[in-house]
Amino acid sequence: MKKISVVVPCYNEQEVLPLFYTEIQKVMTEIRQEHPDTDFELLFINDGSRDGTLSKLRELAKADSRVRYISFSRNFGKEAGMFAGLENASGDYVVVMDADLQHPPAFLPEMYNYVLSGEYDCATTRRVSRKGEPKLLSWFSRKFYKIMNKISQTEIVDGAQDFRFMTRQMVDSILSMREYNRFSKGIFSWVGFRTKYIEYENVERAAGTSTWSFWKLFRYALEGFFAFSTAPLALSSFLGVISCLLAFVMVIVFIIKTIFFGETEKGFPTLICAIFFMGGLQLFCTGILGQYLAKTYLETKKRPIYLVAETEKDISRESETKEQGTEKEAE
Ligand code: UDP
Ligand code: MG
Repeated sequence: MKKISVVVPCYNEQEVLPLFYTEIQKVMTEIRQEHPDTDFELLFINDGSRDGTLSKLRELAKADSRVRYISFSRNFGKEAGMFAGLENASGDYVVVMDADLQHPPAFLPEMYNYVLSGEYDCATTRRVSRKGEPKLLSWFSRKFYKIMNKISQTEIVDGAQDFRFMTRQMVDSILSMREYNRFSKGIFSWVGFRTKYIEYENVERAAGTSTWSFWKLFRYALEGFFAFSTAPLALSSFLGVISCLLAFVMVIVFIIKTIFFGETEKGFPTLICAIFFMGGLQLFCTGILGQYLAKTYLETKKRPIYLVAETEKDISRESETKEQGTEKEAE
């Protein structure tokens, strides 16, 4: 038997939960028809909802033994919800998806097949359009991905989402990143593994309202910059060097001016050059401090040094199971 855990973070989702449940049920039956050896677990994370989400979850859990839920003491944010879900999921495969049907459950059979094929460790979707989203927001999002990919070594795919079908191995890798300020888009990509992107058109929320305001998204974007890049810390060094260079250029200009045209203002050239030079030097030194801070910052995250995808032991185990299989067939 193989178990798939479906992790669903929910914040004020009382309206969509019943819709989500009927949809996911359909898909679960569909998958079980194709792969009868598949079990399911629905793990809902109630992220401190202020509406009837928790009582809806209680009802579902009472009626269906596959439904589990974890209810937070307050709203901790979607990232915390996903982490709790991954940590508590018991499946061989774990799916993370939104409750509002913006991550269509209909993709699950296809995703499952990609992961089962053994060619991929993760299947996810990528929106190719941002239909139904405010224009300004789309513009900012695109700029965010552009800048992010310039200043960070971790590739963040534009349009990639938190809708993921992952193997246990990938989930364990994600859990090995214990950082508190979590930026999942970066984490998913940081751990690596072979990922299949399925492209699709944006779907609008089935019911309820999005809790992501422009400012919340803006703060989230900053979170991304600071979690996966230390470039901002190097900025002051860069400015410092520019300022020092400017001071040198000014010294030369003033010397040439004095030699060829005679001295104009007394004291001013020395003063302005000194100010630029000292200012630059200070910025440069702050930048050096920044670099040490950046290193300390990365160390305190205690990210794993490396993650293993496969060793020779995996091959021998595979052949063992195959042998066992053939023995059974022979019997
Ligand atoms: N969510 C959550 N905690 C929050 C905000 C959102 O668990 O503080 C959940 C929400 O219930 C939904 C998913 O995260 O399942 C995505 O939220 P939403 O649809 O509001 O975001 P959008 O789709 O607009 O990005
Ligand atoms: Mg949504």
